[in-house]
Amino acid sequence: MMVQQLSLIIPCYNEENTVSACFNAIQKIEQEIPLEFEYIFVNDGSTDSTLAKIKALHHAYPASISYLSFSRNFGKEAAIFAGLEASSGEYVTLLDADLQDPPELLIDMWEKIQDVEIDCVAAQRTDRKGEQLLVSASSKLFYKVINKISEVPIVDGVRDFRLMTRQMVDAILSISEVNRFSKGIFAWVGFNTAYVTYANQERMSGQSKWSFKNKVSYAIDGMVNFSAAPLVFATYMGMSIVGVDILIMFILFVRQLVFHNSVSGWTSMSLIILLCFGFLMFTLGIIGRYIADIFSESKNRPIYIIKEKSPDDEKKKNKVK
Ligand code: UDP
Ligand code: MG
Repeated sequence: MMVQQLSLIIPCYNEENTVSACFNAIQKIEQEIPLEFEYIFVNDGSTDSTLAKIKALHHAYPASISYLSFSRNFGKEAAIFAGLEASSGEYVTLLDADLQDPPELLIDMWEKIQDVEIDCVAAQRTDRKGEQLLVSASSKLFYKVINKISEVPIVDGVRDFRLMTRQMVDAILSISEVNRFSKGIFAWVGFNTAYVTYANQERMSGQSKWSFKNKVSYAIDGMVNFSAAPLVFATYMGMSIVGVDILIMFILFVRQLVFHNSVSGWTSMSLIILLCFGFLMFTLGIIGRYIADIFSESKNRPIYIIKEKSPDDEKKKNKVK
């Protein structure tokens, strides 16, 4: 019987100190899983020697390691997408290069995916050890809010680290959105996901590429991509404000007609005007986000651009076809 293949996709952005360690760690568990491992390193426009490190690995193991290198940094979501497109295995896994995703979990994942009902096994962190309090608190808030408003459930603590069947990967690839919010896309395509839990690992070396600002923008992307609730919220807020306005207008009329007192309401009037303008700007901002999203999708630009890739890649592909 032909051995089935597992494609491991590893997005790398300035990971010169971690790529080899990551590969070694995965290699240690290769024996435990009866699949042939195919490594796909995606160099996401690193400015350090990451690509050279990946090339060295490719030269050492040309048959099992291939790579793609982007023309610039396109972001992890783009790197994941490129890796998925390049993958050919019956099973596919996404893995961070910084060893925050313990490769040993793959063994449990493999066991769980044997169940024919299960199409995907994802890693779920049980704690947020090593994370700053503010970051952790705002992440929790994000999950609360997005789960209230999103069209699909987004489970807290679930990483991109997962093992998926080819069927699910093909479904993910059929979504060609430019603004990719993987956590939403994984849930949107459906299929049955099981979880393996683990305690948070600190990054092996270097720093997380996610600043707090990145995370806020990621959170907003998630909400805009998977929910129209902010627009509905703006409509309701607008309606309530008009309601309150009518009430205040009525009170002011009565005050003028009955008490002939029209000047003393100046403060409240200016406050109301300020409030309304503030709200208008807020609403415009929300609408603007959706328009920006339409704008970037309608340009229909590619999600990533490859500058170079491993030479063997072509040969292997031709062989398969
Ligand atoms: N990454 C990437 N492109 C980016 C940012 C990150 O390919 O623009 C990769 C990075 O090299 C790592 C993974 O995505 O393998 C996770 O990144 P990071 O550790 O910075 O994120 P965190 O673990 O803090 O969520
Ligand atoms: Mg990390």
